[in-house]
Amino acid sequence: MPQLPLPPGSTLGILGGGQLGRMLSQAASRLGFDVVILDPQPDCPAARVSRAQITAPYDDPDALQALGRLCDVVTFEFENVPAASVETLAEAGALVAPGPTALAVGQDRVDEKTYLNAVDAPTVAFAAVTTLDDLTNAIERLGLPALLKTRREGYDGKGQVWIRDAAEAEAAFDAIGRRPAVLEAAAVFQRELSIIAARGHDGAVAVYPLGENVHKNGVLKTTIAPAAVDPATQARAEQIAAAVLDGLDYIGVMGIELFDMGADSEGKPELLVNEVAPRVHNTGHWTQDGCVCDQFEQHVRAVVGWPLGPTQAHARIEMTNLLGAEVEDWRALAAQPDARLHLYGKHDARPGRKMAHVNRIL
Ligand code: AMP
Repeated sequence: MPQLPLPPGSTLGILGGGQLGRMLSQAASRLGFDVVILDPQPDCPAARVSRAQITAPYDDPDALQALGRLCDVVTFEFENVPAASVETLAEAGALVAPGPTALAVGQDRVDEKTYLNAVDAPTVAFAAVTTLDDLTNAIERLGLPALLKTRREGYDGKGQVWIRDAAEAEAAFDAIGRRPAVLEAAAVFQRELSIIAARGHDGAVAVYPLGENVHKNGVLKTTIAPAAVDPATQARAEQIAAAVLDGLDYIGVMGIELFDMGADSEGKPELLVNEVAPRVHNTGHWTQDGCVCDQFEQHVRAVVGWPLGPTQAHARIEMTNLLGAEVEDWRALAAQPDARLHLYGKHDARPGRKMAHVNRIL
């Protein structure tokens, strides 16, 4: 195991070479680290700003051995990293952060919700579903409407079907491929918030101001941060974040999506956790132009054992994702003095693909 803090000149490995890996790599190189990317797609967005890419599948044992030998610490930009890959990396001598427990919890919606409720981070009521009978029973218990989601590998609203009438249950189960699932009670929320939090090797926790998010077709469209919330709501979100990170002995940045349910019967803010992502998060991109130390630098600091950076906002930001052909607006956006454009260097602007984002100072 390498000695911490890692000095500049050390090498950081990243599993995954999309935009999150790219922005992590840029932050790491600013602090003097070298970055190696593992991604099956040649010439991926992160590799083009990094020292090297190993082009191989995420479960290729030789590639993982090579990455582990080259790197002092390895992190990832997505949560569906096979547990065996993490073991291989650790065997090759690399520190892996966040660790395997955080990954396992982030990969399975039932395990995730069970964990969250155990650390006093409440969620909607839910039931695990493996058969059509389970689904029928879950509908009886939770009521309708309810949302059926695959237990694993769902993101950006994929692998999810609303059930509004019991007669729709079988079709909904078919629509998600009869895979192991979770049925969730519908949250009647006032708005969607999220909080970006980090925890270091020494157990220090740093939390950013809440952001308010708007989704379109299950995909994030905008984040406004700091959100217009009262101090009690921010304090409750920070309490939830600290409990979630401490309970996992978590190292790195985590994104926590929340439903703002308004005040409970005692007048206290009620926040439910929708989901957690054990990585930097799209709803944290506002920090690039709203904070001195953004979520990407914060994640690098956390995993290499440096002190965490400041999290207060020096500006209020509206972040807008540019999906698919919306990226063609780059010329007009580049001419707007208040628009900070972040382009991911992706070649193919397929419909719905995250191509870039714009931060505007409000
Ligand atoms: P997810 O992929 O779980 O983040 O869900 C995508 C979006 O679907 C969320 O941002 C919410 O807008 C909505 N959603 C997810 N779960 C629920 C729920 N239990 N009740 C109401 N809306 C939900």
